[in-house]
Amino acid sequence: MQLSSLIEENFRLTERQKKGLKKMGLKIIRDLLFYFPSRYESFSERKNIIDLKEGEKTTIYGKINEIKAEKSWRKRRYYTEAMVSDQTGFIAAIWFNQPFVSKILKPEDKVALTGKIANSKKGLYIANPVYEKISSYEALGEGAGILAIYSETRGISSRWLRFAIQKILKSFFTKDRPSLTKDDPLLIDPIPENILTNYHLPSLKSALIFIHTPQKLSDAEAARKRFSFEEIFFIQLARLKERKKHDEHHSFSIKISDKELNDFLSIFPFELTSAQKKAIEHIINDFSKQSAMSRLLEGDVGSGKTAVAVVASYAIVKNGYQVAYMAPTEILAQQHFQSFINYFSQLRLTTKIGLITSSECKKYPSKINPKEPTHISRPQLLKWVGNGEIPILIGTHSLIQKSVEFENLALVIIDEQHRFGTRQRAVLAKEKSDKIPHLLSMTATPIPRTLALTVYSDLDLSLLDEMPPARQKIITEIIAPNQRHKSYKKIREEINNGRQAYVICPLIETGKIEAKNVTDEAKRLKKEVFPEFEIGILHGRILPKEKEKILQDFRKNKIQILVSTSVIEVGIDVPNATVILIEGAERFGLAQLHQLRGRVMRSNHQSYCFIFTDANSDKTRERLNALVSAKNGFELAEYDLQFRGPGELSGAKQWGISDIGMEALKNIKMVEAARQEAQKIISEDPDLKKYPLILERLRNQNKEIHFE
Ligand code: ADP
Ligand code: MG
Repeated sequence: MQLSSLIEENFRLTERQKKGLKKMGLKIIRDLLFYFPSRYESFSERKNIIDLKEGEKTTIYGKINEIKAEKSWRKRRYYTEAMVSDQTGFIAAIWFNQPFVSKILKPEDKVALTGKIANSKKGLYIANPVYEKISSYEALGEGAGILAIYSETRGISSRWLRFAIQKILKSFFTKDRPSLTKDDPLLIDPIPENILTNYHLPSLKSALIFIHTPQKLSDAEAARKRFSFEEIFFIQLARLKERKKHDEHHSFSIKISDKELNDFLSIFPFELTSAQKKAIEHIINDFSKQSAMSRLLEGDVGSGKTAVAVVASYAIVKNGYQVAYMAPTEILAQQHFQSFINYFSQLRLTTKIGLITSSECKKYPSKINPKEPTHISRPQLLKWVGNGEIPILIGTHSLIQKSVEFENLALVIIDEQHRFGTRQRAVLAKEKSDKIPHLLSMTATPIPRTLALTVYSDLDLSLLDEMPPARQKIITEIIAPNQRHKSYKKIREEINNGRQAYVICPLIETGKIEAKNVTDEAKRLKKEVFPEFEIGILHGRILPKEKEKILQDFRKNKIQILVSTSVIEVGIDVPNATVILIEGAERFGLAQLHQLRGRVMRSNHQSYCFIFTDANSDKTRERLNALVSAKNGFELAEYDLQFRGPGELSGAKQWGISDIGMEALKNIKMVEAARQEAQKIISEDPDLKKYPLILERLRNQNKEIHFE
């Protein structure tokens, strides 16, 4: 058996198993070895059925006596009911909305069930238990008393995974295979030994054994700690190495005098906040250095990042260079284009601004109407960008296509995308010069400090932790279902006062989960609640052109209520909208809800956020209450991390961090330690000459990171 050999060459697999493995992304033996248990069960927690009490979460071991799938007609949902027995008694097990359970578990099967004991008219039952077939009670945990439980998929059971992984462990880690390092370099520990010793982390080999077959839970914990440290450590190494390389490139020296800057700022219609001023100071200071700026501007929605971007752009344009501003979606690109036009026209500057997206190109100002932009052809736009006539180009990913060439690009601004590396910057700069442009990345996504330290370790940080003054504080309320009409009344009032509203639903159409969807809810609102208003819908499946039309109509107040999924989360700016009503709020992360709420905090009008939830547990209420009490998005992100667990951090997967890596994020000490060690290595040995294993690992890691 080789780590790189295919699983199907080493195990006899049914077609279903092959499919299951494929779905799980498990292909070679190594993949299995690094497929970690999602949790553990220990014998000591085992309960006899006769001792079960309502409300406790527990594991029982028993035999299935009967099992059937049913459909409850009244509630129109499926459930599966089984009767399970052990030596001491019987209990029902009920799975809601999981009819397939009856295809997996059969009468006479021996099972371990973990779940909460609930009570109904018919007596106690175990609700929605996690289940696993077991061969015999004694076989559990191979006598060690601790059983590794793996996430399953159709065709691949936790039990099969345990069996396969134990076989692999035996094959690699027995005495008659001492030379595994020669065969399988992937099993050499990439973490330097002194680091393992310093932080009491088990070696790779011990950790693999501990994580799959722990003798005690503390072994498993130690192993998990090691792997989460490892993941964070290598992400940081990669980022820091990239930063080091990046700092070797020269960039454009941008000079702007205090007077020029102050003159420019004095024509703003408002006084900048001190946080904005500080961020501008950082940027102007970076511009004066030899190496390129790599800065992240992080601030809550409405904290005024655009003004900072405008000032930075002005400095660049004033020096005769160009700016590229990239947004993640077409809607946002359009909007930034409009904001830039607003700023520059207010400032009475005739700076030309271009827009490029996959569906259209525009230029500001239009020859006919100097206050408006005009459509131009793509070749025309590219020509003017190429000869430097258009100094500011705003767009989507279309910006980094080969055909787009700048005359002298000196600043790249990126909105809500922070994984934009040196490589892309070099693409934008092309071979015209050996210099690379400055980078200003912007985000309103509040993330916990530990995550920031990890994924942003290559960026310098400017925080906009202060809101522009004179904003009224938003009124956030969690609304009980029977008070729904009151929120509608408020919405009607606001609209009659000339304002507008958003209604957010978790789904686009009716789906498997029970939650409100945009399509039906918009129809219902029009028919039953707001027949007198124009209602529009917006979601990810609507074509860009159409989307833009809907947004235009909303901006012009031709649409009063916009029913949408969370797509509007990323920065839509319609200051006249003052109410947002969120359905099924328990399905969103707190930080995400906060961002949604930010959509209506964009003017001096009083704004409202009404939150509805279908889940009425205390925990959900407590969590949602944090929205009312938290001071800012960062506080909410920390709250999410502590209370929902790292795996549930909203959008966590987008950072390319696995579940086990996420475990480290609860531990600031560990993240700081990993960072410190990574920094030490990179500053002492930037090319990693003394660390061939680390270099190799980073190479493999890079292969797996796909930039968009
Ligand atoms: P962000 O991009 O950070 O969410 P924006 O840049 O869109 O925020 O700014 C939100 C609103 O606040 C805009 O209408 C902008 O004109 C206004 N604004 C920005 N800075 C200030 C300030 N210092 N004082 C008053 N209003 C401001
Ligand atoms: Mg913005």
